[in-house]
Amino acid sequence: MHIVLIGLSGSGKSSLGRRAALVLNLPFVDLDERIEQGAGLCVREIFAQYGEADFREREARAVCAAAAAPHPSVIATGGGAILRPDNVRRLRETGFLVFLDRPVARIACHMDYDGSRPLVSGIRDLETLAARRRPLYEAAAHVTLRNDAGCDEALAALLALVRARCPPGGYAVIGDPIAHTLSPPLHRAVFGALGVTDAYTALHVPRGALADFVPILRAGGLKGCNVTIPHKRDILPFLDEVEGEARLCGAVNTVVARGGRLCGYNTDMEGLLTALRAAGCGYRGRTLLLLGAGGAAGGVAWKAAREGARAITVLARRVSRAEALAAEVRAAAPATSMRSGVLSPETAAAAAREANLLINATPLGMRMTANFDDVSFVDALPPYALVCDLVYSPPRTRLLRAAEARGLAVQNGLDMLVYQALLADELFLGRALDKAALYPVAKRAVEKPDV
Ligand code: NAP
Repeated sequence: MHIVLIGLSGSGKSSLGRRAALVLNLPFVDLDERIEQGAGLCVREIFAQYGEADFREREARAVCAAAAAPHPSVIATGGGAILRPDNVRRLRETGFLVFLDRPVARIACHMDYDGSRPLVSGIRDLETLAARRRPLYEAAAHVTLRNDAGCDEALAALLALVRARCPPGGYAVIGDPIAHTLSPPLHRAVFGALGVTDAYTALHVPRGALADFVPILRAGGLKGCNVTIPHKRDILPFLDEVEGEARLCGAVNTVVARGGRLCGYNTDMEGLLTALRAAGCGYRGRTLLLLGAGGAAGGVAWKAAREGARAITVLARRVSRAEALAAEVRAAAPATSMRSGVLSPETAAAAAREANLLINATPLGMRMTANFDDVSFVDALPPYALVCDLVYSPPRTRLLRAAEARGLAVQNGLDMLVYQALLADELFLGRALDKAALYPVAKRAVEKPDV
């Protein structure tokens, strides 16, 4: 449900709504701001140029759009939004309406009578509006929140009300850092296409704070979550079950809460394989040059060996990690020839000569991260090789641009991201999804995230 704040102009809807949205990890929508953005004019100018009736039309349209948004948000309405019964009906259909009841005297002493609030030029106007609108606010609201103390008290009271009324539920991605994750727009787009109304948010769970987060999940505060850096391995001891590939590669990217039990999965590797197959390239019979020996590289090596790769060369800056990974995979899948070495332009070029698939599983090339100094090793690849970069931001890394310049087939990490998310959604929702039909919806959401 949306959390909708109603009340007089100056009652604290915008400031409180903005803070509540931050804490609840929900988008914040200020209807007056939306109207102003649409008109290219401020509220006072719309009133002056077109009149109140025109403003109310714009307001009704803004109410419709905000109320119909498929994912919950905190909405601050204009003071007069409740004047139209249709607005109230729409908001109540999808929202939990809270009347912020702030005494007129308190509003008056903090209000600027600068003309920015067209119907209020002094305390007399405020008193008249308050008397006329109070019955409307009370009739429209699910609950009234007296806002006559400080903002912190009002925020605490609002959060308590919201948590009692709308337990969080839904899904989230957890990680640290988390600000730039593409998972929320991606999953929301898929949920939207499927008519699933659960929220999907990004939660900042700092390294070392899983012990605080997991009880929320276990208590049903969320139905499940995706897990990203740095928790993919650290979350394992907190889980009741760890399935299939997650157990093999020792990393979890999806957790489903079922009746208080937490079950961990890894959809990254199947997601990458699905993406590669879509580009006409599986692992069977391939000679793979794998750059990196971290969590993602480990999963790629395991999956490629299990799927029948002929040979894999793992190159990493810490040769000990490359050797350890190669040894583990060799022991489990002796049919695949495993080699390892330190990552340098020379070693990469030597291995590239025999490879027909190159996968970069290091963050090299990622925005705000170090890049390859030298990508000339792509020149050593045969012309039919595919170059895949797990990095997706930027979409065309220096490595991929060099490969494209040579006319090689390339793939960035976006398709892997999309397919691992679709596989995670299958686990969340407990049913098979038509991934071919959902792929374009999900891809659009991450190519141009606007949610
Ligand atoms: P990770 O566990 O931290 O491993 C990173 C690997 O890259 C390690 O081998 C690390 O070497 C190496 N590395 C890091 N910085 C390097 C540098 N400056 N020069 C040379 N090597 C360097 O990370 P991960 O989870 O495997 O992720 C690796 C990449 O894959 C990231 O860019 C991540 O965003 C991407 N990824 C994408 C998707 C997707 O859906 N597209 C999914 C998962 C991961 P050391 O061991 O020496 O540190």
